[in-house]
Amino acid sequence: MSEVVSYRLEGDIGVIGVDYPPVNALGQGVREGLVNCLRQGLEDDQAKALVVIGEGRTFPAGADIREFGKPPAGPALPDVINEYESSDKLVIAAIHGTALGGGLEVALGCDYRVALESAKVGLPEVKLGLLPGAGGTQRLPRLVGAKAALDMIVGGNPVKAKDAYKVGIVDEVVGGDLLEGALAYARKLVAENAPLRKIRDLDVKKEEADLFTNYEKSIARKQRGFKAPFHCIKAVQAAVELPFEDGMKRERELFAELLVSPESRAQRHVFFAEREVAKVPGLPKDTAKRDVKSAAIIGAGTMGGGIAMNFANAGIPVKILEVKEDALERGIAVIRKNYENTAKKGRITQEQVEQRMALIQPTLSYDDLGDVDLVIEAVFENMDVKKAVFTELDRVCKPGAILATNTSTLDVNRIASFTQRPEDVVGMHFFSPANVMKLLENVRGEKTSDEVVATVMDLSRRIGKVGVLVGVCHGFVGNRMLHKRQAEAVQLVNEGANPAQVDKVLFDLGFPMGPFAMSDLAGMDVGYRIREELRKEDPDNAPPRNWTDDLVEQGRLGQKTQAGVFDYKEGDRTPVPSSEVDALIAKFREENGIQSRDISDQEILERCMYIMVNEGAKILEEGIAARPLDVDVIWIYGYGFPVYRGGVLFWADSVGLKTIYDKVSQIHQETGSDTWKPAALLEKLAKEGKGFYS
Ligand code: NAD
Repeated sequence: MSEVVSYRLEGDIGVIGVDYPPVNALGQGVREGLVNCLRQGLEDDQAKALVVIGEGRTFPAGADIREFGKPPAGPALPDVINEYESSDKLVIAAIHGTALGGGLEVALGCDYRVALESAKVGLPEVKLGLLPGAGGTQRLPRLVGAKAALDMIVGGNPVKAKDAYKVGIVDEVVGGDLLEGALAYARKLVAENAPLRKIRDLDVKKEEADLFTNYEKSIARKQRGFKAPFHCIKAVQAAVELPFEDGMKRERELFAELLVSPESRAQRHVFFAEREVAKVPGLPKDTAKRDVKSAAIIGAGTMGGGIAMNFANAGIPVKILEVKEDALERGIAVIRKNYENTAKKGRITQEQVEQRMALIQPTLSYDDLGDVDLVIEAVFENMDVKKAVFTELDRVCKPGAILATNTSTLDVNRIASFTQRPEDVVGMHFFSPANVMKLLENVRGEKTSDEVVATVMDLSRRIGKVGVLVGVCHGFVGNRMLHKRQAEAVQLVNEGANPAQVDKVLFDLGFPMGPFAMSDLAGMDVGYRIREELRKEDPDNAPPRNWTDDLVEQGRLGQKTQAGVFDYKEGDRTPVPSSEVDALIAKFREENGIQSRDISDQEILERCMYIMVNEGAKILEEGIAARPLDVDVIWIYGYGFPVYRGGVLFWADSVGLKTIYDKVSQIHQETGSDTWKPAALLEKLAKEGKGFYS
């Protein structure tokens, strides 16, 4: 077996090279090799100093995820780093690529660090619900001060070599060949008789007294419900307040708590699920993908404009078509304003604004679309309008062009049938605001070809989205589950809950907002129009009228009219309970002979969440989503379901499917409602004592 770490002499400097593709992860073999080669270097009389370097594309980029969940095999990383820090010869880390997590912690166990300008360093453990557990929380504050360490450890984002140099993580940024630069730097240190520099022996710079409480306060809102960021703060505080050895012990304890915490388990689940969704079960890996070098969007409204921005942001030229000049101008002006606002916040330069605008080409004529590789339709949600658009697209688009629809509720198979090429038609369901929201439900129609599916899944990634493949049904995966929950929230209010109470229960579970604040944000008229449409088309299956219909008819459409289920003060998005709405609800109950009762928070939680779990199970049964993880990723990236709960179905497993099934059956018996009919899959898993993921 070839050694994953090797030692060699380069003149008077010993070089420890890590060669464990693809990213030199710190697996057992690497850890053992690092120790053995260090010992070799220390015994080598000709080596005046030692350099540690990664072969291939990077310095060790972190722990070996293949070891996750397996029993630990020695030597442990903290012990490896401890040996490096105990070396009586100078050790220099030579960094390129990404020195992340354990990788950076190894570098911090060395005396000095040199890096290529293109390198990045960081401690991203917090993103998996963990903290750097090999001394990172104790050494980094000693090197750069507690405040800068908090920013890196709690934020978890990598920093560029130049910035790492500025704060003192990196001692020298080198150009050209890294090894040459590192050897030269090592020789310079030797020539200058530079002292050993053990970070553990450095004193932490004095900081303001209330740094840690203030830091906690500053992240409280954004990190609500997460455990790791707060444990990271505690660990850094230990570095300031305790001797090194005691601080290391504290770091260990805090790490061990996080490792078994439900929050971290959920976050690690999401991390893997996000990678897994890109792999479509049953789609051969070698399925050909079509080249998408240009795109066109039909409709420059709320969605069309945002969708076009995604393409321009990715450097893909995009045409945007409207029927009327004024609508086109309005749409383009909104896009420009969005970019200008981003530039004002300093996130892009004015030059980038112009570059992106130049990639967006407005047009009023379908004849301009003959050469584009992909078209996404985002016109009014009306089958006749869709039919007119797809008939035109079929006429003008070149063979092989992908024809996508952004419809939220209409039948993609019917839309495909308006063309002579249904195999090229697919749904690409963006979420609003389309330039911001990461989720993209790609909808496979009955006739959509594998090639088209593979292409849109790949394209999702290129335009910065998390693409999830779903099948055709009303509302697809996300909205289908959402609509059930929204209807149940209304029903709870019919029976006696008040809207603010319902919202608070779901907010407390970790949603960014409750169901009613959400419908106020989206516009109450959206759901109203869908219900009215159903009442016209399919009166037998349409939902009965309720108090939200009264609200809309009185002009309370949500935030845009400063009045919906809640009231809103001008320029303020905070929902304020409304006495007018309370009166409407009371009137509705009276007219329908409903005796209002007290409804507990627990009942709200169960009914709003279990109804989604049951619907999610039906979605899996029907093959609308291929795997539980597809449903979970949709809820996390499309609706802000808390990452630390892992997704609706992962959460359901933590509650226990038997508990959920029993409740669902009970409500079904009580109400006779079809929605509450237990999904066969839920019943089966519950009876077998299993979860969605077992
Ligand atoms: P919108 O009313 O804001 O925009 C529609 C645009 O299409 C308008 O600018 C209109 O002038 C233009 N248009 C209408 N008919 C046209 C035609 N024949 N040719 C060219 N342009 C035409 O609507 P929206 O909210 O952007 O929704 C568009 C589509 O996206 C709908 O299918 C909707 O269901 C879907 N969608 C909306 C959301 C959302 O939150 N708004 C989310 C996901 C999907």
